[in-house]
Amino acid sequence: MVSSERHVAWGGVSCAPAHVVRPDMTTSGIAGGSYLAYGAGRSYGDTCLPAGDTLVHTASLNQIISFDAQKGILRAGAGLSLRKIIEHILPHGWFLPVTPGTAEVTLGGALANDVHGKNHHVAGTFGRFVRAFELVRSDRAPIVCTASANSDYFAATIGGMGLTGVATWIEIELVPVRSANIRQTITRFADIESYFAVNESRTPATYSVAWIDGLAPRNALGRGILIEGEHADDGDFPVIRKASVDIPFVAPFTLVWRTPLKLMNALYMRQREGESVVDTEKFFYPLDRIGRWSRLYGPRGFHQFQCVIPEKAAPVTVRQLLEIAHDDAGGSNLVVLKKFGDFDSPGMLSFPMAGYTLTMDFPDRGEGTSTLLKKLDAATLSAGGRINPYKTRAMSTETFRASFPHWRKLLPFLDPRAESQFSRRVGLYSREEQSSPATIGVATLHIR
Ligand SMILES: Cc1cc2nc3c(=O)[nH]c(=O)nc-3n(C[C@H](O)[C@H](O)[C@H](O)COP(=O)(O)OP(=O)(O)OC[C@H]3O[C@@H](n4cnc5c(N)ncnc54)[C@H](O)[C@@H]3O)c2cc1C
Repeated sequence: MVSSERHVAWGGVSCAPAHVVRPDMTTSGIAGGSYLAYGAGRSYGDTCLPAGDTLVHTASLNQIISFDAQKGILRAGAGLSLRKIIEHILPHGWFLPVTPGTAEVTLGGALANDVHGKNHHVAGTFGRFVRAFELVRSDRAPIVCTASANSDYFAATIGGMGLTGVATWIEIELVPVRSANIRQTITRFADIESYFAVNESRTPATYSVAWIDGLAPRNALGRGILIEGEHADDGDFPVIRKASVDIPFVAPFTLVWRTPLKLMNALYMRQREGESVVDTEKFFYPLDRIGRWSRLYGPRGFHQFQCVIPEKAAPVTVRQLLEIAHDDAGGSNLVVLKKFGDFDSPGMLSFPMAGYTLTMDFPDRGEGTSTLLKKLDAATLSAGGRINPYKTRAMSTETFRASFPHWRKLLPFLDPRAESQFSRRVGLYSREEQSSPATIGVATLHIR
């Protein structure tokens, strides 16, 4: 069907594909021109935007197919949001094994980007808890993938950024909890060296993340708070609160002003140290309190830079990255630092590796921001690190290949008709000659 719908990625880039198709559970194939699956568009960059004319919107795949409340195993449509899943499982004493910093993402998006959470250092990525999924492609009948059946497609699709086909349903393992609350501990640190000292001096909690004051003066670079958490065992399962405020449209110009942000950051970093009990929403999803907040950045949107740096190089390189951000852009509005554990990801192209991951947001200011991002990429790569492809809209072919030197492993498993703006930019195609798939024609879904 012809569409005029505009679809956005979280950082503000968008597309208006000529055709939007909505699969259902009986969809058995994809024919025609190039296409890409789209979940909830919570990827910051353009990995979720089709380069061709067809967007496969998975919102219609939103059913819970089965939930074993004894064993903690859930099978659901790939378009179901993590928020809906939590609402269903938490009252039964189960929680997601890994969750990103927003509950608005879909199961399919969590699989295709092999997302990580505040517990990567003890649990690894989301993909480690995926038991099975069904994959619909343009070149063969649907296949069910597990670690032992169609295992290559299993590994290629986890972290495969939608380029191996469309997952219709996904089955995951959950973790048991005895409360919906979290026992949270806050520790302040005065600079980045103190963060590493605090972090290394104790056994890490199950969940651990540091918020850094990215707008602090140069002599206080890296000051912030370390937030750690453990599931409480008080038997309390309060109803989850939804976002209370929404931003209904894109602001005509940026409303993210530096002076109030500086003040807010400084106040946030002065939170009282010590223990408290908070609910799931407050601990895991503080940014969800304002729905669609990215619209405040205005029509130009913003960039998120995320890298991971090997452990040894991290103290020096993280300081260097903060200095570049400070000197070139006056700092970053939002900075998060956390440790990744030494886990083999099940996905061929998953982003995490052992080390420290730093995330920084920057409003789009044109050429200056491109130069800044290039400097950050270069400093990361020369420290042996890598850049997260689903956070940036500016990744070059060289940066992609340097971040994932094994990228060619994915090629045999790419769907020849799946194509994103990202894959076209970095030349991630299945064909030998590395040319883009044909983008003529409309992808249609076959119903079995
Ligand atoms: C506030 C905020 C905090 C975040 N925190 C984190 C974090 O802590 N850790 C982290 O890892 N990420 C984080 N993210 C990023 C987000 O978790 C990922 O980008 C996630 O993959 C988005 O899921 P989505 O459903 O919105 O998918 P989309 O963004 O729409 O798509 C993501 C990718 O999945 C593919 N895809 C979607 N559905 C399917 C399907 N059914 N079959 C095959 N492919 C599919 C798309 O083609 C695309 O390549 C955060 C994002 C926001 C906005």
